[in-house]
Amino acid sequence: MLALVTEPGKPHTTRIEDVPEVRPREGEVLVRTLEVGVCGTDREISEGVFGVAPEAEPFLVLGHEALGVVEQDGNGFSRGDLVTAIVRRSCGRCVACAEDSPDSCLTGDYSERGITRLHGYARELVAEDPDQLIGIPAALGRLGVLAEPTSICERALRHARAIGGRQPWQLERALVLGAGAIGLLTTYLLRLAGTEVWVASLERESELIEESGAHYVSTHDTDLADIGRFDLVVEAAGEASLMARTLGLLRRSGVACLLGIDTRDQQVEIDGVVLGVETILENRVLFGSVNAQRRDWVAAVEDLDAARRRWPDALERFVGPRVPLDRFEEAFLHVGGKATLLLDD
Ligand code: BGC
Repeated sequence: MLALVTEPGKPHTTRIEDVPEVRPREGEVLVRTLEVGVCGTDREISEGVFGVAPEAEPFLVLGHEALGVVEQDGNGFSRGDLVTAIVRRSCGRCVACAEDSPDSCLTGDYSERGITRLHGYARELVAEDPDQLIGIPAALGRLGVLAEPTSICERALRHARAIGGRQPWQLERALVLGAGAIGLLTTYLLRLAGTEVWVASLERESELIEESGAHYVSTHDTDLADIGRFDLVVEAAGEASLMARTLGLLRRSGVACLLGIDTRDQQVEIDGVVLGVETILENRVLFGSVNAQRRDWVAAVEDLDAARRRWPDALERFVGPRVPLDRFEEAFLHVGGKATLLLDD
């Protein structure tokens, strides 16, 4: 069976490999992968700066943004059901994992499909624990491949609302920095909830942003300081210097959430008055968010379906290019939107 594999820690080892057939154990569900999304984490793993292969294995099968179809009836699923799978799995020994919150794992010894110590979905068949599967409504169809990145945004917004909501707070104006898949999906979730959203990005592609009713701000010709202040700022551009600016873009009681990753070894500057005075006197917060737990996945699927009904054309245009597995390099090079690898048409 063919799989997209890589040797974590060794750059440029990503390749198609013939891997052993999968034999589901008692209680497992056999899933045929239809499509996997590609993101910055896959690129980092492929560049040798992230990821861990399963113990005693020579490589890691990539693919954590999965859409698959159940092969056989059983364990609560029927043949033909569309599914996706939770990425992070319990470390088995911390209170967060014991409370079904591996996204907040306290030991760091979790595993993640296609990223850390567990093979991913970029192969024809996967044997999966049914508790880790999330059903995708047939009406959502191939858009179910967006469930994983959407779950990341759902978790971030759930935490932002909890943090903002620790004191009287109104989420009226939000700023999203970056218009890649995470920035766009966050924008659509905020628009579904009726929030007024500004999206600032370098890209000149503004259509998908404006179709959601959000305002597009080109960072080529606009200074972020000139568009007012926000109750929520989400950094999804993966630019540490921009992350350092988020606190200064907040209104009173504002919340800034970091979602993008910037692996560069560098120092960034933060305004002394913003940090030393405004953040305190205006009760502002800066936090980071990673991964997602079951409830975020369920919310992601529900909200994607609601977004599909409200903006059907736009949602379709989120995904692409869709390329066969052996053209993975094209998907890895793609910027903006969501490139995917097709395993089964
Ligand atoms: C994935 C998360 C994962 C994180 C760190 C992201 O790309 O979406 O599920 O926790 O990488 O490994």
